[in-house]
Parts: sequence; C-alpha cells; structure tokens
Amino acid sequence: MRNMSTGRRSILNAVAMLVATTLAPTALIAPARAGECPNKGALGTSRVLTVDPAAYPRVGTKSFPQTLPLDDHEVVLTFDDGPSPPATRTILAALSAECVRATFFMVGRSASEHPELVRTIASLGHTVGHHTWSHPNLAQPTPENAEADIDKGISAVEAALHGTAGTTPTTPFFRFPYFESTPHLLQRMEQRGIAVFGADFWASDWNKMTPEQQLKLLTERLEIARKGIILLHDPRAQTAAMLPAFLRYLRDNHYRVVHIAPPAARTASDRTN
Ligand SMILES: [Zn+2]
Repeated sequence: MRNMSTGRRSILNAVAMLVATTLAPTALIAPARAGECPNKGALGTSRVLTVDPAAYPRVGTKSFPQTLPLDDHEVVLTFDDGPSPPATRTILAALSAECVRATFFMVGRSASEHPELVRTIASLGHTVGHHTWSHPNLAQPTPENAEADIDKGISAVEAALHGTAGTTPTTPFFRFPYFESTPHLLQRMEQRGIAVFGADFWASDWNKMTPEQQLKLLTERLEIARKGIILLHDPRAQTAAMLPAFLRYLRDNHYRVVHIAPPAARTASDRTN
C-alpha cells in the first residue's frame, strides 16, 4: 500500500504528464486500457461496458426503473457540468494517477469556452457525453426550446472534439440537467438513439461541504448501494480535492471501476489510424 507522500508524488507526476500531453500531438497520447496501468498498485479500470442506447435507453435508479448491468462492487464514475479549469484538470490528474477512466457529461457553453480541455479529456480515453448548451431545467421551456438547447450543446461539444459542429453525437449519451425531463423529451431521445443517463447515487457535491465531509457522505452511500452509476461534478473544487482519497477508498475496499462506451466508439486514437 502506498503512503500519502507517494500518492501526492504520483498525482504531481500525473499533473506534469497532463500538461505535457495537452501540448503533444493527439496521436502520441495512448489512452489507458482496462487492466493496463504503469502505476504500481493503482486502482485501474477493470472493464469496458458497451452501452447500446437501443438496449439501455434510460439508466439510473434515481430516475428510472432500469440501470446498467453492474456486478456487486462495480461502479461507473460520471462527472457533470464541465469542462471547467482548474478543477477539471485536477480531476483528470487524479484519474490518470489511478489509471481510471470516467464519463464527462459536458455543458456545451463550457465546451466551447475550453475546446482544448474537451480534446484532452477525450484523448485520455474518457467518454464524452452531453448535458445541454446552457444547463436549463428542460421540464420548464417549451419542447422546441428544450430540444434546441440540447442540440446546441451537442453541436458545441462535437465542434470542440472534431472541428465540425453537428447534432448527431459521436457518443450518444445524454444527461438532463437536474434530472428534469418530460415524457416527450425522453421519447425524442429514444427516437434519436441517445441513451439518457440518470444516476444510482451521488455525493450531493452541489452543496458546499469539506472534501472530508463529502468523502464520508459518498462512501456511506456507496456502502449501502454497493455498486452503481455515481454522479459527481468536475467543476467543483471540493470534489477535485476529495477525488484522490475516494479513488484510494475504492481500491482499498475492492471496488472496481467500469468504463462505459457506446457501440463502435470512435476514440481519438481510432481516428488517427
Ligand atoms: Zn448538471
């Protein structure tokens, strides 16, 4: 087991690597594969779960009857509302230090402000999902306005990723802000082949608390749920500060991180081949 100072050193190394990789050509960045990790004793990513929106149109027991087919002690890490430096970069460094891959549900407006960070996240092997353009409560506007905000968000993320805007998402994963949807919008997402993600539990990290309080809350909830899709927020400094300890907790308590990907995912490295 590593001590704290070793942990801090590896996080600093990961930060240094992250800075280097943002300056390097995309082709040189090798996303960590499940089971392969150069960091001794790291948590790692145990497996990749392909999520086909046709089979799993809506997942997450906080909102829907169905969730992902996870085994006991398997978790999926999801981060909403970014990208937002500096906290997102701290989150990425913590994930890299443990060779953990996660899913980022991005707000289009933030993606258009930080396109390089969107590309960094994708090039590190994380999954990039969608979370509207302006983070409205979509149960409130008219359905036309709601879908326009969804599409503007998808376009902004696609433009950041590929240089071309489009309303067909590369990764057809979407999460409604505040989990607020309507039957019409849920039907539209299903018609478009876009999986809607809720969550199985969360850290309530939209509330101000210390990283220690947040870790305690999250691990208590995990001990009850034992598995599931976890919702966190990468722009939150308290979440970024908590994450290394949470990842160590997962490792020390024999939890396994499952990475989700769409069928026939096209990653940055695929496109260079
Ligand atoms: Zn959100």
